[in-house]
Amino acid sequence: MLLARMIAPIHSLGPGRRLGIWFQGCSKRCKECISPEMQIFDKSKEVPVDMMVMLIKQEAERNNCHRLTISGGDPFEQPHELYKLLRGVRHFFKDILVYTGFTLDEIIKKKNLSRCLKYIDVLVDGRYIAEENRGVSRLYGSCNQKIHFFNNVLATEYKEYEEQNGMLESFIHKEKVIIVGIQRRD
Ligand code: SF4
Repeated sequence: MLLARMIAPIHSLGPGRRLGIWFQGCSKRCKECISPEMQIFDKSKEVPVDMMVMLIKQEAERNNCHRLTISGGDPFEQPHELYKLLRGVRHFFKDILVYTGFTLDEIIKKKNLSRCLKYIDVLVDGRYIAEENRGVSRLYGSCNQKIHFFNNVLATEYKEYEEQNGMLESFIHKEKVIIVGIQRRD
């Protein structure tokens, strides 16, 4: 799989203390994409899925994270790898949130994409539309995007999370600042 980064703990992409991973590669080219550096399918970012499963478990344990956020890039543009990864880590997390630029309808129509859904608790779907970024949610950037719950047990926690003020986190890596969270357009 092509992986851009892994950070733990994060608190700005879903409720609770989470481990975050970002897939490398997305062909959708949304205007004002928040992570243009993750659009290229950069082969130098290749990591075996089995190794990632092991690393995710290790880092989650070390950082006491029982929740996982998967973003990108678009994880569903590497559906085989996403499926293998989700299957490997599912039992380890009580909450798996995945971001994608596909809509749920597009995912459901393709078997190699839709089979991933059974391992996902919460999906935030849809392309990013800059003009639709009205700063209304802590979980999605533009108003066309939607939150889908496949595990309703988590719905209350997510609702409470949405009601709190938004926040961004910053991390320094190799003299660069990485911003994590949902940014308002302004
Ligand atoms: S789907 Fe996400 S990662 Fe892909 S171009 Fe759009 S905003 Fe960027």
